[in-house]
Amino acid sequence: MANIIDGKAISAAVRGEIKENTQKFIAETGITPGLAVIIVGTDPASQVYVRNKRRACEEVGFYSEAYELPEATTQAELEALVDKLNADPAIHGILCQLPLPKHLNEESILLRIDPRKDVDAFHPYNVGRIMIGNQKFLPCTPAGVMELIRRSGIDCTGKECVVVGRSNIVGKPMAMLLLQANGTVTICHSRTKDLSEVTRRADILVVAIGKADFITGDMVKEGAVVIDVGMNRRADGKLTGDVDFATVAPKASYITPVPGGVGPMTITMLMQNTLTAATEAAAK
Ligand code: NDP
Repeated sequence: MANIIDGKAISAAVRGEIKENTQKFIAETGITPGLAVIIVGTDPASQVYVRNKRRACEEVGFYSEAYELPEATTQAELEALVDKLNADPAIHGILCQLPLPKHLNEESILLRIDPRKDVDAFHPYNVGRIMIGNQKFLPCTPAGVMELIRRSGIDCTGKECVVVGRSNIVGKPMAMLLLQANGTVTICHSRTKDLSEVTRRADILVVAIGKADFITGDMVKEGAVVIDVGMNRRADGKLTGDVDFATVAPKASYITPVPGGVGPMTITMLMQNTLTAATEAAAK
């Protein structure tokens, strides 16, 4: 049976370190890291995320602002808010909760956020820096996965790393970070031929597709490290991953559960990025 990677415990340890580093940073500079979170509309899942982000800020000692805007907010109003936050010296990180309502142009909002305050690392400037391997911010979910791997004592060097999913938020940056960690990386997607043949080669398998229990035991090599990024709601309301835990865990050497694996790391890495942004701003 696999070792369970405890994302809650690792997340708590990382948050403890961020809190300590924040206290030192405030003592040295007199600056409190500040995060602004913007949410447009009333999507209940997004509201929960925003609440959790505010709590995480309190926990590590950041200043935070939440802008909960009505569904009818116009592009011009949202852009004006981003411009105001870009210019506000008390704000070091700006996060616009996605998805935005359909009438708003997501790409143009993400482009408008000052790359120095882009703590989600979605701006093409920051995406480009990840490609080069000279990044300031790492996208939160893939960064959280790397932290889980590292803190479990797993070395990616020379390993066959397979990422299932090629989204801009998870799959693609995930592959780049595994490559930076010297893994031999393959990216799979919905057009991959014979997916099981590829996943069975993986020493480290990261799954981010958004399909409940999709990866089953027969698709995984004996002794593989399996990281499940998926977050899917079952009909009974329960959260479940993209990996069929029951059949995969007996074969894996390490596995992340859902909930309690990758999920808790994402907001923690957002806190890390905000502290990095404040530190960079103070160094100017
Ligand atoms: P997207 O829907 O943007 O991307 C899904 C990817 O999976 C696509 O690249 C798609 O391929 C691929 N895919 C879909 N079906 C298959 C299939 N049958 N075989 C192989 N590949 C397939 O999702 P995200 O990357 O945003 O999210 C993925 C999952 O991770 C979701 O469950 C999401 O909720 C979760 N998530 C969790 C986070 C966390 O904090 N734990 C944060 C972000 C996401 P193609 O490109 O060809 O369509």
